[in-house]
Amino acid sequence: MTKQLFPKDILPDNINALAAYSSAKSQKLTGSTWLNANESPYSKTFELSLSDLNRYPDPQPQNVIDAYAQYAGLTAEQVLMTRGADEGIELLVRTYCKSGEDSIALFLPTYGMYKVTADSHNVAINALTQELLLEGSVEQIITAVGNSKLVFICNPNNPTGSLTTLNKISAIAKALENKALVVVDEAYIEFCPQQTATTLLQDFINIVILRTLSKAFALAGLRTGFMLTNPSVLAPIRKVIAPYPVSRVVAQIAEQALQSDAITQMRRQVTILNRAKAILLQWLEASPAVNQVLNGQGNFVTAQLKDKANIDKAMKSGLIMRPFTLYGQDNWLRISIGNEQELEQVKLWLETLGSEL
Ligand SMILES: *Cc1c(COP(=O)(O)O)cnc(C)c1O
Repeated sequence: MTKQLFPKDILPDNINALAAYSSAKSQKLTGSTWLNANESPYSKTFELSLSDLNRYPDPQPQNVIDAYAQYAGLTAEQVLMTRGADEGIELLVRTYCKSGEDSIALFLPTYGMYKVTADSHNVAINALTQELLLEGSVEQIITAVGNSKLVFICNPNNPTGSLTTLNKISAIAKALENKALVVVDEAYIEFCPQQTATTLLQDFINIVILRTLSKAFALAGLRTGFMLTNPSVLAPIRKVIAPYPVSRVVAQIAEQALQSDAITQMRRQVTILNRAKAILLQWLEASPAVNQVLNGQGNFVTAQLKDKANIDKAMKSGLIMRPFTLYGQDNWLRISIGNEQELEQVKLWLETLGSEL
């Protein structure tokens, strides 16, 4: 192939300026214990029928939509199936934001894809803080949100695990009723199901809930998510979404994952993971190498170490966790809740740190 480089000045400025999203999987790390992407340690098997792959699939497979609507306590018209919650984020930005003109509001530190998506569509970021969201009054929050079209509330928040109350979410939605969409990202809601905002959909037209099968449902490899909202909010998104976003293979697996026995199994696994998280929290709080631990919801724990070098030490030994810069400090670590053997590796690592001090 030619050594020539395609000229960069052909690119729009916002694309030229992009820093690629560094996902937990894109870094080509080598390791033996993977606790860096909030995946589930449980894997399942499914049955597939592959005889109709010459035909295009149902754009929105009705059996999956119906099963998810039932699981969420909603009607089928309130549900859109997407290629992961990430596609939901992208569809909201592409559908509701004017490129080069609008902004989205987010509360830092939070999930990185809101900013990556906005940047790639030349939509500005109104960067607010979790502190404002959790401690601020609704008036202060609304003032800071200003004219932003989308307000992303990650609940529980990745990577801090903090929860925004449903009272606050509904007050924000009310104040923004005919102005903006309040997007509640519930990627981890199965770990604290009573906190879901689905009940608010009855009263508020401008709340959008994002869900995924990647976390508690243990199907990160499937790439399936759902957008839950009022049918009139979904109508323009249905025009923007790709014609056949969900393959027949994915639809068959998603349908099986949403059967009632599979949901019961998922809930059992959540109970086990929540219990394991409580134990990991104790280990971290007892460790002399740990500065502070954020005690929140979700299948992960985020902690600040005294010495960042200890994170590298874990990585080198094959124990892969997710390092973070939070609040301007680069010694934070997010640990996904794995199975017993995986968490044992974390314990062993913590013990080596304890003995050095
Ligand atoms: C993991 C995660 C997602 C992405 O979900 P996918 O369905 O795998 O695209 C979205 N939001 C948050 C907060 C997440 O942590």
